Amino acid sequence: MKLQARGVEFSFPNGRSGDPVVHGFNHRTGEGFLFDLGGLERLARKKLLKVNKVFVSHTHIDHFVGFDRLLRVNVPHHRLLEFCGPPGIVANIQGKLAAYAWNLLERHQIRFVIHELQAADSVASYRLQFEDGFKLYPYDDFPHPDGTVTTFKDGGRIKATLVDHGIPVASYRLCLPPKYHVRSEELAKHGLRPGPWLTQLLTALDDPQACETMTVEGKRYRLDWLKDNLLDCYPEFSVSYLTDLRFCWENLAAVKKLHQDTAVLLCESAFKAEDYARAVQKAHLSTRQCALLASWVGSRRLENFHFSKIYSPRSGVLRGEAERYLKRYRQLTVAQLRQQINLEIARGKQ
Ligand SMILES: [Zn+2]
Ligand SMILES: [Zn+2]
Repeated sequence: MKLQARGVEFSFPNGRSGDPVVHGFNHRTGEGFLFDLGGLERLARKKLLKVNKVFVSHTHIDHFVGFDRLLRVNVPHHRLLEFCGPPGIVANIQGKLAAYAWNLLERHQIRFVIHELQAADSVASYRLQFEDGFKLYPYDDFPHPDGTVTTFKDGGRIKATLVDHGIPVASYRLCLPPKYHVRSEELAKHGLRPGPWLTQLLTALDDPQACETMTVEGKRYRLDWLKDNLLDCYPEFSVSYLTDLRFCWENLAAVKKLHQDTAVLLCESAFKAEDYARAVQKAHLSTRQCALLASWVGSRRLENFHFSKIYSPRSGVLRGEAERYLKRYRQLTVAQLRQQINLEIARGKQ
C-alpha cells in the first residue's frame, strides 16, 4: 500500500501478512509515527529515528515485538518517545525496560510519555525516565478534550477507543486538519497581493480563539469573507486503524462512535469469509466481517491487512475478497446492512 493523504504517507513495512505495523510520516512536519510495533527489521533506521509517537493496539507478541528495536535505535539519541496503548501498556513497557541493565546511561537517554487508555473515554498519562529509575510520574500537561489522546505539530489529532478481543484493544483515528489552498486569481480580482497576512489568515482559521476580523493592506475584513472568497477549503480527513477484534454488536457500536465517516479504514481481516468459525475462535475478523464493518462506518476506502499465515503465499486473495463484499454492502440500506450483520453474527454462533 502506498497511501498519501494531506502530506502524510502510510505504508505496511511488513506487508499485509507480516506482523502488524503501519508506518506514517508527515512530510510537512517531519514527524513519523507507528500504528503497532510488530517486527521493525524492515523499517530503515533513519525512518525509525524520526518516529516519535507509537500507537499500540495491544501487546500480543506480533503487535509489540518491535519495541526492542525501536528502543535500541533511539537510546543513543536522547529522544522523547510518546506511546499510547490499552489498559496495562504502562506495566508492559516497564516490564520491557526491566529486562535490561542500564548503569552506563546518561541523563535523558530514555524518556517516555505514556498515555494509557483506561476506558473508552478515559486516558491516564505518565512520564517515565531512566534517571528516576523508570518511576511513574503523572503527566498533566496535556488535556484530553473530545477523546483526543495526543496531537501533532500541524494540528492533527489522535483519538482512541477500546474494542474487545478477549482483552481490551485500542483502536485509533488520526484526524488531519482542514487544509486551505489560496486561489491566486481571486486575490488579484479583489486587488490584494500575497504576503505574510496569508499565513496569519491560515493560522487564525485554525485557532478557535482568534479574532473574527483581520486587517489586510489597511482594510478590515471578516475572516469568513476571506475564507469564502480567497481560499479553497478541504475538510478534515481521517485515517483509522482497527485491528484484532471480535465481530459483535458491542464492538460495532464502539467502532461506529469513533470511526464514523472515516476516509480511510486500515482494518484487519485475518481470515477468509468461509473461515468465519476460525475468526470467531480467534476473536478476529473475516474479510466479509471486515467489509460489513467498513460499510457500517461509511468509510470511503478500505485497506485490509493482518492476513493469517495459513493462506501464505496466496494471502493476496483476501484483499480482493474484502473489496468484493464491500462493493456489495455499499449498495445496502442501513436496515439491510443491519440484517446482514445479524446474519453474520448468527452464523458465527452455529
Ligand atoms: Zn491479538
Ligand atoms: Zn494480531
